[in-house]
Amino acid sequence: MVENTDVVVIGGGYAGVMAANRLTQRDDVSVTLVNPRPTFVHRVRLHQLVGGTAAAVVDYQDVLAEGVRLVVDSVTRIDAVGRGVELAGGGAVGYEYLVYAVGSGSADPQVPGAAEFAYPVAGLEEARRLLPVLGAAPASAAVTVVGAGPTGIETAAELAEQGRNVTLVCGGVLGPYLHRRGRRSVAGRLAALGVRVVEGEAAKVTAVTRDAVRLADGRKLPSAVTVWTVGFGVPDLAARSGLSTDELGRVLTDETLTSVDDDRIVAAGDSAAPSGLPLRMSCQTAMPLGARAADTVLSRLAGERPETLNQSFGAQCISLGRGAGIFQFGNRSDNAVWFHIDGRLGARMKETVCKGIVQHLADEAHKPGGYSLHRMKGGAGRREALRAMRAGAPAVERIS
Ligand SMILES: Cc1cc2nc3c(=O)[nH]c(=O)nc-3n(C[C@H](O)[C@H](O)[C@H](O)COP(=O)(O)OP(=O)(O)OC[C@H]3O[C@@H](n4cnc5c(N)ncnc54)[C@H](O)[C@@H]3O)c2cc1C
Repeated sequence: MVENTDVVVIGGGYAGVMAANRLTQRDDVSVTLVNPRPTFVHRVRLHQLVGGTAAAVVDYQDVLAEGVRLVVDSVTRIDAVGRGVELAGGGAVGYEYLVYAVGSGSADPQVPGAAEFAYPVAGLEEARRLLPVLGAAPASAAVTVVGAGPTGIETAAELAEQGRNVTLVCGGVLGPYLHRRGRRSVAGRLAALGVRVVEGEAAKVTAVTRDAVRLADGRKLPSAVTVWTVGFGVPDLAARSGLSTDELGRVLTDETLTSVDDDRIVAAGDSAAPSGLPLRMSCQTAMPLGARAADTVLSRLAGERPETLNQSFGAQCISLGRGAGIFQFGNRSDNAVWFHIDGRLGARMKETVCKGIVQHLADEAHKPGGYSLHRMKGGAGRREALRAMRAGAPAVERIS
């Protein structure tokens, strides 16, 4: 009789769903996916949810392989010694292998008043909480978006396109990742949408009140609705469970995505820190890492040596409302280069990417093992960065 191997995947986002689907390649693997909601959150569309142009959810039926058991619950603790996870609902699930893919959410704002009066958009429930607040505010009311990374830019553009009176407070430069040419293009589009962009260190938000934001240089900007998009944080589940993490709480792994503490645990997506040198938090990374994590488990089951990461980046794409977008190309070290595609073509490309993400997951559900972007040639930039890091600091060593 063939013995079954139980694999538990924590987190049904891009990384977790990709991993769960891929693991169904083997009939003797039983996959359980634990996720707090019965629907898949298409996070890269959450700014559209806020702007009223997308729901940002997809039925698991459309993206999850039939063979995966979905448990709608939250994991409250990982018992690495006993190989089990405890659930908020009271139960527990045992595993032979665990995929840790709890993703990210809004970072703790650490600015007085922000937790009380500002609205984050990094998670489904948060974005939904903002909707009635916007609905209750008159169209002319001042809306301040704090943070000018991709989420802030996308949210500001989306709201402005809906006729809102938007100020984007960057707290530094607009789109730190962007090349100066790309930044100029984004600034031009935001200006055309009527977004007032406040740049510079002096314009860091130091306090948020019910009706204003205060800046480091003393300025007070009236703000009927304040949207907070400054950075991502990760759940503290791994740290609370005694696993080694980086300072943010991402699971420390080697380049096969195996936890440095336990070779029965692999991590993927925004909540993984391979070699202590985490990749840019993005969907662009989460799906290949999910596939890589699954491959690591499958290799171990087959008695083979798992392959290592060879992740490379090509671009960052940002939507600028429904009518425009920018595809900012980068080099192999993930630094922006002079070349970008913007305007309507940029918007079409971004939309193709958003649809493509769901299609990749659906394809992997129907034909597990078909996804291959994580195996593409590349990763030279990462290898260089690892060499540089190891030359300056000790490498992450496996503890057991
Ligand atoms: C508005 C917005 C726009 C974005 N646009 C882009 C973009 O254009 N391109 C791009 O590459 N990236 C983009 N991102 C970032 C991208 O969404 C994230 O990097 C990506 O979602 C990470 O994928 P993940 O699978 O690691 O985690 P997630 O997608 O965050 O999924 C993690 C899942 O784990 C669940 N979970 C958490 N804790 C537990 C627990 N204890 N038990 C069980 N389940 C748990 C969560 O509820 C969630 O369902 C955007 C993000 C936002 C907010």
